[in-house]
Amino acid sequence: MLILDGMPDRPVAGKTPLSVAKKPNLDKIAEIGINGIMDTISPGIRPGSDTSHLALLGFDPYKFYMGRGPIEAAGVGIDLKPGDIAFRANFATVVGHGTVFDKVVVDRRAGRIEQTEDLVNALNEIDLPIDFEVAKATGHRAVVVFRGNYSAELTETDPKVVGEKVKKCKPLGDSAKEIAEIINEFTQKAHEVLEKHSLNLEREKKGLPKANAILLRGAGVMKEIPSFKDKYGLKLAVVSATALIKGVGRILGGDAFTPQGATGNKKTNLESKFSASLDLLKKYDVVLLHIKAPDELGHDRDFEGKVEFIEKLDPHLSRILELDFSKNCVIVTSDHSTPVSVGEHTADPVVVSVVHEGVRVDDVKRFTEFDAPKGGLCRIKGMDLLNIALDLLNLSKKFGA
Ligand code: ZN
Ligand code: ZN
Repeated sequence: MLILDGMPDRPVAGKTPLSVAKKPNLDKIAEIGINGIMDTISPGIRPGSDTSHLALLGFDPYKFYMGRGPIEAAGVGIDLKPGDIAFRANFATVVGHGTVFDKVVVDRRAGRIEQTEDLVNALNEIDLPIDFEVAKATGHRAVVVFRGNYSAELTETDPKVVGEKVKKCKPLGDSAKEIAEIINEFTQKAHEVLEKHSLNLEREKKGLPKANAILLRGAGVMKEIPSFKDKYGLKLAVVSATALIKGVGRILGGDAFTPQGATGNKKTNLESKFSASLDLLKKYDVVLLHIKAPDELGHDRDFEGKVEFIEKLDPHLSRILELDFSKNCVIVTSDHSTPVSVGEHTADPVVVSVVHEGVRVDDVKRFTEFDAPKGGLCRIKGMDLLNIALDLLNLSKKFGA
């Protein structure tokens, strides 16, 4: 499964990046496959990358989505148990007097600090009445997991804007009272530890903002979720540089890989990602290769950038075309559209091509938003995609007699 994150677009003066880019290999995939369009969640529902990836792997996001915190936490390598509560976190700079909650956030990214390993280690030494774990994520980001069986009906400590005080975590229901108090205790103790940490004293000397507070947002509780292996009897690998997508793979019990040079942006090492994915096909049944750049370029409203990236990506697809399609099934699609005219995810259906020896090849010869709807797959839902592939591969069970 090749997922071109946010690739499809809405036409600008009748054209989309997919319709103007020169991409002989991607078009070849459309030509030898069966094509269609897909609502990754449901018609008119704007998908997040996490909910849509769950659906593309056959897991109903309305049933299993647990918020961004647990998925990011799984994505940076934390093993979560049902009931654990996970937050996304930022190292930030606060100034003022009194407790951390009296202080004002002056930089939500602490000068875009990168080297936070020592700070994370120090935070993990804090004494709390329950087990918890802090892990580094990219740049100034981290995740914090509180172990136990808690409700995520909590407010966030991150004020989301500079110039405001760190917020107290408040319970939104009785069942979250205890954990809210523990989170406030953590936030205060974290500030005390970080404020006097040698790395921050050094930063202060150099005139850099201190990473002296940790702000929490995006709470979610890990749910019971069947594994990909239990559901399909197949081994799943996810290749991505994005913690959120690796996290989707890991909460389903799959393995997640970030090959050398994979960055999650347009400078990513595509060679390395395709090589790793093709290697993994020898050990795994389903390999999901996630390419993030088109989404980023969509958010940046960069039409030309999307075109350039498609043209940079296309030569690598020649390696996919060399696969033996009597044994392999290749799906090329997206998790949602990120049109340059909108700069956000939209519900415009995505393009999908499926290649396998047995498919009913249709007349579609180009991988575009305009050609795909004429294909034999017509309009499908994200939850149906994997079933379609498994049926083609004769890996499906019959329903009924
Ligand atoms: Zn996405
Ligand atoms: Zn996006």
